[in-house]
Amino acid sequence: MTEVLRETEVLVVGGGPAGLAAAIAARAKGFRVVVADCSRPPIDKPCGEGLMPDALAALRQLGIELSAKNSFPFRGIRLVDSGVSVGASFPPGCGLGVRRTVLHQLMIDRAAQACVDFIWGSRVTGLYGEGARSIAILCGRAGSSGRDGQNSRIRRWAGLDDYPSESRRFGFRRHYCVAP
Ligand SMILES: Cc1cc2nc3c(=O)[nH]c(=O)nc-3n(C[C@H](O)[C@H](O)[C@H](O)COP(=O)(O)OP(=O)(O)OC[C@H]3O[C@@H](n4cnc5c(N)ncnc54)[C@H](O)[C@@H]3O)c2cc1C
Repeated sequence: MTEVLRETEVLVVGGGPAGLAAAIAARAKGFRVVVADCSRPPIDKPCGEGLMPDALAALRQLGIELSAKNSFPFRGIRLVDSGVSVGASFPPGCGLGVRRTVLHQLMIDRAAQACVDFIWGSRVTGLYGEGARSIAILCGRAGSSGRDGQNSRIRRWAGLDDYPSESRRFGFRRHYCVAP
């Protein structure tokens, strides 16, 4: 595989919701931004489908608006376990339930509109100096940004992983074909 050298002012590793939000925010400050992700869209995951009111406010600030066509409102959260449950409504407004793939595409569209560059299908394998190494060599000048999820290797490489977790957790998601 040929290596190409790409220079940018901000390199974001990971094009999930956090990476795309960081990329859009950095573009709004005028930086040239490249997002590198080892997967290719549409990226589906069993998480990020219940957006709380503050997440919706953050999305609006980035110029992303969900519509009634692609989301469903929910007014609070209830945790249920072995016949015991506890729940509460959000004080300000509603959250929205949205398919992860829909959220991801909306964020990609907004980032593309803001002229963020993407390198999909490219795993970042290390940091060096002011850059990162992957199938392409990526140089982030103003600052590189690790947004590669909860088990972030970038966080570890950058020496920010003070409390590495050895515990394994499982995430489950289920969609129901009923009116909410
Ligand atoms: C079961 C479960 C349910 C959840 N439900 C919700 C919810 O309802 N609402 C909510 O707000 N949050 C929820 N969360 C939290 C959720 O993880 C975050 O909202 C969101 O997915 C985090 O986005 P992210 O961009 O940080 O990470 P991710 O979505 O994990 O994105 C990381 C990206 O980095 C890429 N990547 C990783 N390593 C590299 C590398 N070396 N090189 C290049 N690319 C790389 C991956 O391909 C991926 O696309 C849930 C979490 C779990 C586990």
